[in-house]
Amino acid sequence: MSSTEPFDIIVVGAGVVGCSTAYYLQKNNPTKRILLIDRLPAAGQGNTAMSAAAVRNMFASSTNQLLTDSSIKFIESVQTKMGFDLTFEKCGYLWLMSDKQFNDPSVQMWMQKMKASSIRWTLYDKKQLKKMIPSLNVDFARDEEAQLLHLPEVSYGLFGPDCGVLDPTKLVSFYLQEFSKLSKVKPKFGVEVTGLLLEADPKLDMPGEPFVWQNKRVNGVKTSSGVLRAEMVVLATDAWSNRLLDPIGFDSQTKAKKRQMFVIHASEKKPLMDLLYTKGFSDKGCIPFTILPMAGVYFRPQLQEKGFWIGC
Ligand SMILES: Cc1cc2nc3c(=O)[nH]c(=O)nc-3n(C[C@H](O)[C@H](O)[C@H](O)COP(=O)(O)OP(=O)(O)OC[C@H]3O[C@@H](n4cnc5c(N)ncnc54)[C@H](O)[C@@H]3O)c2cc1C
Repeated sequence: MSSTEPFDIIVVGAGVVGCSTAYYLQKNNPTKRILLIDRLPAAGQGNTAMSAAAVRNMFASSTNQLLTDSSIKFIESVQTKMGFDLTFEKCGYLWLMSDKQFNDPSVQMWMQKMKASSIRWTLYDKKQLKKMIPSLNVDFARDEEAQLLHLPEVSYGLFGPDCGVLDPTKLVSFYLQEFSKLSKVKPKFGVEVTGLLLEADPKLDMPGEPFVWQNKRVNGVKTSSGVLRAEMVVLATDAWSNRLLDPIGFDSQTKAKKRQMFVIHASEKKPLMDLLYTKGFSDKGCIPFTILPMAGVYFRPQLQEKGFWIGC
């Protein structure tokens, strides 16, 4: 099959969004020729590979509740019914909160909305938290490091038992495998899309087209190895989308933002091992994915590596 022939659809970006989009498009349109393309040497090497890959259904918005609750059920069925191990572990989510945070109207509304939609949660007070997680310091009153981090004292822990963590590269492998079973077009890796092929519609075959006053459409992509034509182009390029959209006059308002992830190995360090294998929250016998009471700091249990990922 020639790489320059027109495809029905080109999906740019083979992260979790691109691979799942390509799969569902192919599943629902079996005769369409869909090309999946990424500049990196393999699928799922962009933001997806850097993700903490925590999955939660604890949202206030009913749309998010529906999306995430059904996603969790889907992930479970991939593991149990289809036998594809995503290492999804229902370790739960634990939000540690100060008294002030807990009493904020937005938190109270969030809890009410989850209750109304039967999203399960349990609230623990400080005394219960101390008993359940003896190795976690929830009393920061005179702790110098906590003060440096602006950590307020923990008064409550809101626990969601149906949340969990998985291996994001395995989820990508699953979608890529299922897409490849259905597709007749081999994905292209290591090929950068350098621009979108914007053409006048209809074409007048005048030099300098497309002009500002003409109707235009995207008829494919320009790549590091030539032009690829397609009836439809789907961008699944995440933080890099604006590089392709801005030159055709469309501001997607997306911008890359720096995040950090630290890997901590717990083996042979007893206090960390005790924390990792905290019992009582889930049948996984480990500490839940835990969010500290300050903006954006969390830690994820990583049972396969006997450690934690700390993200911010
Ligand atoms: C540190 C961190 C922690 C996170 N934690 C969580 C979490 O716990 N839970 C959660 O749900 N989400 C989390 N996320 C967010 C999640 O990882 C992303 O939302 C998700 O991976 C986005 O998937 P994607 O396919 O859109 O993007 P990506 O995986 O980045 O895929 C985009 C792909 O497009 C390709 N591409 C871009 N431009 C071009 C081009 N011009 N030509 C060809 N290819 C191109 C890239 O190479 C890349 O492979 C986290 C993200 C980070 C960074």
